[in-house]
Amino acid sequence: MALTQFTQTISPQQPATDKRGYDYDLVIVGGGIVGLTLAAALKDSGLNILLIEAKVTSASVAKGQAYAVHLLSALIYQGIGVWDKIVPHIAKYRHVRLSDADYPDVVEFDAADIGRNSPELGYVAEHQALLQPLQEFVQKCPNVNYLCPAEVVNTQHQPDIVAIDIKISEQIYTVRSKLLVAADGSRSPIRQAAGIKTHGWKYWQSCIVAFVKPEKPHNDTAYERFWPSGPFAILPLPGNRCRIVWTAPHEEAKALCALDDEQFLAELSRRYGDHMGKLELLGDRFVFQVQLMQSDRYVLPRLALVGDAAHNCHPVGGQGLNLGIRDAAALAQVIQTAHKKGEDIGKIQVLKRYERWRKLENLTILGFTDLLDRMFSNQILPLVAVRRLGLWLMQRVPVLKVFALKLMIGLKGRSPQLAQRF
Ligand SMILES: Cc1cc2nc3c(=O)[nH]c(=O)nc-3n(C[C@H](O)[C@H](O)[C@H](O)COP(=O)(O)OP(=O)(O)OC[C@H]3O[C@@H](n4cnc5c(N)ncnc54)[C@H](O)[C@@H]3O)c2cc1C
Repeated sequence: MALTQFTQTISPQQPATDKRGYDYDLVIVGGGIVGLTLAAALKDSGLNILLIEAKVTSASVAKGQAYAVHLLSALIYQGIGVWDKIVPHIAKYRHVRLSDADYPDVVEFDAADIGRNSPELGYVAEHQALLQPLQEFVQKCPNVNYLCPAEVVNTQHQPDIVAIDIKISEQIYTVRSKLLVAADGSRSPIRQAAGIKTHGWKYWQSCIVAFVKPEKPHNDTAYERFWPSGPFAILPLPGNRCRIVWTAPHEEAKALCALDDEQFLAELSRRYGDHMGKLELLGDRFVFQVQLMQSDRYVLPRLALVGDAAHNCHPVGGQGLNLGIRDAAALAQVIQTAHKKGEDIGKIQVLKRYERWRKLENLTILGFTDLLDRMFSNQILPLVAVRRLGLWLMQRVPVLKVFALKLMIGLKGRSPQLAQRF
């Protein structure tokens, strides 16, 4: 395991900093899906990388989350070479059905709408189905030192390097790097320590997530149904299971979660509908806070933010992780290209290329998810009329439908080279 390798080269008494004045070209803080994706995307870069994750591997893998994985994310993983290990454990969806509560007009999206050869529109993956193959992949990359569990407790920015203090079993070790990447999640201690401001708000809604097993087949179909209390998504999973992502105002969400299983199932079935027959609840249900957040900056000299450390959005449309995967692919491309040209990868001029690429694209999606949530989570009559007209038009005007679909699955923005190999 990388820890042995790490402690052999660096100890508090004898820092391993070599003649160049740094130990690593790049230190990534956070071995969640986004941090791992960045390390994996840089496997052939020639950069010497340290990836640090605070949680033990078993705890990270056990996170009971599931995600809609967009086609562009799948292409990025194909480009990296890890997709073959992911795809056997995840579900594909071939259809998406979008509707406004019980209003009968339904917008139906199929893979044929985007004119690609793929019979799939996207995928749904449980956390471990993505995390585990990525961890295994990164552990085999000779240029990546994967340090876990270890926690970054302090960083100090100097003109030519960043000094990073890492706590391992109560000992503090210091390493020096040309570039520090924060992939440390929405609270990002690294972002906060760097004094980067954020903008945004907490939603009046929380999100309940649960797994169910329906009586009838889910037919590889994902549903997004907008109720006045908030969006309600059904995502297909392997083994004819489904993931529920149910947004409701805080008090309602709390009350729903406090119900016993039978009452909860009765409430759930009212939103779910009876098209898949009887539902069986699998495991516990959880409530998540929902927020929109955009960092003022994605980069500073010798620092870049990726994934939830840089932005958070409403779960409608399953965007958050997909934006982070695209950040990782974009940053990998920018620094790999700069490194090949002999540029210093920690220089702000280099890092700004990443910020220009990703910040506006992410903001567009953040805005779109916010608009969707606000437009649909209410009963104001003129808005009800506008959104129903919108759905009616979307179903009948192919150009509109294809535009909305491509925007939501990442095919409208600039595509990283990794995704263009396929
Ligand atoms: C209810 C809900 C449903 C969602 N559904 C979807 C969906 O369908 N599709 C989608 O794309 N997105 C979805 N998202 C969003 C998605 O969960 C996040 O965007 C994604 O998990 C962020 O990944 P990340 O790697 O950036 O951060 P994280 O997963 O938070 O990883 C950060 C890592 O950094 C580590 N860390 C933190 N600080 C330190 C430190 N000092 N030292 C070392 N390690 C550290 C942590 O231990 C953690 O492992 C959803 C979110 C919610 C709340």
